Amino acid sequence: MFVSLLLTVTATIAGVFVMPDKALADGCYTWNRNLAEGASGEDVRQLQIRLSGYPGYGAVLGVDGAFGPATRAALVRFQQAYGLSADGVAGTATFNRLYALQDDDCTPVNFSYAELNNCNSTWSGGNVPAATAKANALLSMWKLQAMRHALGDQPLRVTSGFRSVSCNNSVGGASSSRHLYGDAVDLGEGPHSLCRMAQQARNHGFRGILGPGYPAHNDHTHVDHRPSRYWSAANCGVSVAGIQSVDPIEGDGP
Ligand SMILES: [Zn+2]
Repeated sequence: MFVSLLLTVTATIAGVFVMPDKALADGCYTWNRNLAEGASGEDVRQLQIRLSGYPGYGAVLGVDGAFGPATRAALVRFQQAYGLSADGVAGTATFNRLYALQDDDCTPVNFSYAELNNCNSTWSGGNVPAATAKANALLSMWKLQAMRHALGDQPLRVTSGFRSVSCNNSVGGASSSRHLYGDAVDLGEGPHSLCRMAQQARNHGFRGILGPGYPAHNDHTHVDHRPSRYWSAANCGVSVAGIQSVDPIEGDGP
């Protein structure tokens, strides 16, 4: 969200309020230059986190701080999704849209860390360090934000996210569950059916999708960021076998 302090100061000095043509600062992160293919740095990495839900069907966008063709393609999809000029260059219009989409803790406006962790408040006790689990959850939230928008901006109901080992054991989770890494999210039925979400998730950077038809997943759809793709929701027509013709893009590497 926008930070109004600088605008207020500016308006006071000028004695008259003039609507700025760009956000001067944001409570989460502020970009200070336009970004296009060939750019690299932390500002590119911050952009990639927010574009991670726009990799294209079956693909995953690398979050490596290097602006390559896959990042450009994801940016174009984002710009198209929000009716912006789809030029593949992140400038004022793109950044302003991103500022409007994020909270001051850098989570997307429709999801929160608390929502992604009803196990503990420290993100500790899982299979990765707490900071890693939290960073993984942030990436999942941006993917979900993209999926939420693609599905008409109706709420997605999160029923489980990060779990410590003890939390995972208490709900009978598998010992290798991605919930222990912080990147898994379970979605309950709401405005969208479980199958609709499992199908749509294929477009938003989730390597793992489990839903109706997969054992113990008839009451929720599970998405995650496991190391290699595994999609199984047989009752929804979602399976790994169904995507063999798709060539996944893993970031922008050579
Ligand atoms: Zn799950």
